Amino acid sequence: LVIPNWKTFVTDMKYHFQQVEPLQDGANASYIPVLQQADPEQWALSICSIDGQRVSLGEAHLVPHTLQSVSKPVTYAMALHREGEAFMEEWIDVEPAGRPFNTQDLDPDTQRPFNASINSGAIMAAGILASGFSSSVNWKHIVDQVRKTWYELCGNDLDIGFSDVTFESEKETAYNNFAIAYNLKGRKGLPRNVDLHTMLDVYLGCCSIEITTEALSVAAATLANGGICPITGKEVFPASVVRTVLSEIMMCGMYNQAGHFAVEVGLPAKSGVSGALMVIVPNVFGFATFSPRLNSKGNSVRGVAFCRRLVDSYRVHVFETL
Ligand code: GLU
Repeated sequence: LVIPNWKTFVTDMKYHFQQVEPLQDGANASYIPVLQQADPEQWALSICSIDGQRVSLGEAHLVPHTLQSVSKPVTYAMALHREGEAFMEEWIDVEPAGRPFNTQDLDPDTQRPFNASINSGAIMAAGILASGFSSSVNWKHIVDQVRKTWYELCGNDLDIGFSDVTFESEKETAYNNFAIAYNLKGRKGLPRNVDLHTMLDVYLGCCSIEITTEALSVAAATLANGGICPITGKEVFPASVVRTVLSEIMMCGMYNQAGHFAVEVGLPAKSGVSGALMVIVPNVFGFATFSPRLNSKGNSVRGVAFCRRLVDSYRVHVFETL
């Protein structure tokens, strides 16, 4: 067993889970009603080891919530898997942006988005994904393929939904994302001249995929396991794709707190405005937390606090052993 003292481990995790629960700092995302109205007290943690030991804490572990930006590494991985490094490199860089997630800025020399974790890069990744389908294919079909991949990442027995309400609200308020898309098209152009509206619908659709914390922890474990799902044994992504994606989120996955998170927690992770957080402990386990209140950087307050406590008590920071 990769975590031999599972019982002790779970007892410790329960303790940290409870210690974090009283935190009430931060606020729900407020740009769309469905996120603003989410119960801010929800708090859930699920853990899955690479050999399939699992635990969930908090009733909210079965509450479906949208992936939002947690969708980004998987959309990117799907595009990378199909198109290869060279093609992806041509369209999306892998450099930390040092800018807010919704920046219009692109790399001044190459006109590329800085990385796939900020909106410009994620919209481009959605465009790359869409560009591999015939132009007659509807965005929903492409998002269904992404959902199918999440389903495989999560071990096939956990439902992956879609929030129409979120998608509609996202679309109504997506002025900045439209601006990013037009900017991408106007500067370097879009891969294979993919339709701009399809690209945006795929991006917003990926953000609107619904998942539970319990399922998300299995996806995290699949990534921790080099792309092979610990529950089904199926390879969802090759290890080379996972290596790139984990490196990218290690640098860019936590908005403008990514640097501090790398120093303090030292694990690849991706958060989203719904309050979801997916964290990968390479070769050991993956976990997910859900709590809607966000700090000023856009990351779940309780989620980040839990990660700090975990690293204080278990030697899981990737540079811990130096
Ligand atoms: N769906 C939101 C947007 O594109 C944000 C996603 C997020 O950062 O979690 O503006």
